[in-house]
Amino acid sequence: MITRIPFSQIKATIDEAYEKFKPNKDGANANYIPYLANVPSDLFGLAICFPNGTVYEVGDTKFAFGIESVSKVHTAILVLRQYGAATLLEKIGADATGLPFNSIYAILLENDHPSTPLVNAGAISACSMVQPLGDSDGKWKAIVDNITDLCGSAPQLIDELYKSESDTNFNNKAITWLLKNYGRIYDNPDMALDLYTRQCSLGVTASQLAIAGATIANNGTNPVTKTKVFDGSLTPKITSLISTVGFYEHTGDWIYKSGIPAKTGVGGGIMGVLPGLFGIASFAPPLDGSGNSVKGQLAIKYVMNKLGFNLFGAEKFEIDFDK
Ligand code: GLU
Repeated sequence: MITRIPFSQIKATIDEAYEKFKPNKDGANANYIPYLANVPSDLFGLAICFPNGTVYEVGDTKFAFGIESVSKVHTAILVLRQYGAATLLEKIGADATGLPFNSIYAILLENDHPSTPLVNAGAISACSMVQPLGDSDGKWKAIVDNITDLCGSAPQLIDELYKSESDTNFNNKAITWLLKNYGRIYDNPDMALDLYTRQCSLGVTASQLAIAGATIANNGTNPVTKTKVFDGSLTPKITSLISTVGFYEHTGDWIYKSGIPAKTGVGGGIMGVLPGLFGIASFAPPLDGSGNSVKGQLAIKYVMNKLGFNLFGAEKFEIDFDK
């Protein structure tokens, strides 16, 4: 059976979620990266993008914030484009760690494997794989071009954030060199870490992330620019990676409660993907104890449950854009 949902109902539900959770004061900005601690905590935006290119957004959806870990999805896509799904599995892996995003213990437990490109270890490993190997400028261009294609417009480096992260990324240095020891860094380790740190410092908006999510949902074609970014066969690989570890050690709880694979970042962004239907994104800086945006989680979960969408349900949906 196909359930038809009027677009007007989706718009009203997005508005409701925004109004309902805007006053929420729970959580706190990430403070281990000084720049992030100073982003205004009350910013809040929610955006949704559909495969026909329609975007609906409310609140601070044009504020450029640090993409942080959401960029791990984008660069995993680049590695999938450059090497294919089998090589990503072999060189990095696709397993949830069940541990915090920056865990060194996870690397040791996984028998010297970075596990997944969506935690720090695997993301640094992914940056080392980006081609052209040995060419920092060329690799950076490939990373930024890929994010631009996915988002439909270019991200802007937040210099202050890049400096702030570079000055404080001691744990990531340890991860990089541990992975090097295990043969899981496939280019110069310092270059890989610098590229990872820089990609985390790119500024994006909630609108851009909703479009990137919709590009994944739309089998690799950006619904707004119509650019074919990646082969449609990669969409299930990407959404499976996101659904197993997008919320770090609380991914199971998230997926159980919300029904949508989504990736968070400590900059306060969340990008959700419902294959075939839409990409949804939120931005609100205060985080819970695991580094996931409090208001963003509440809002996306509300929209999913209110409208009945669920990746794991048997019901099929169509959206009626005329109503
Ligand atoms: N740049 C951050 C770090 O490496 C990203 C963390 C995150 O967003 O989860 O710690």
